[in-house]
Amino acid sequence: MTVGRMMTAAERLEVAQCLLVRVLPCGCRVGLYRTWTSRALLIVDDPHDDCRDRGHQADFVIEDRDGAPAAAAGLAPAARRRA
Ligand SMILES: [Zn+2]
Repeated sequence: MTVGRMMTAAERLEVAQCLLVRVLPCGCRVGLYRTWTSRALLIVDDPHDDCRDRGHQADFVIEDRDGAPAAAAGLAPAARRRA
């Protein structure tokens, strides 16, 4: 589910593990985090100065998925690209 909202205080406490970190084409660095409640949150870690996406700010939740570190593979567009 795509949300686009700031991370809540509760979610900060729920974060259990960083599954991967990647840099978006706009230059922003995002992290995929698993929570104790088995959700997968894709969060902006380090917004790039030149990025004009107003959603790309620190602690902004881009994706919030139930259940699914396994679904996390689907969050990696570069990895899915076939030559
Ligand atoms: Zn960005």
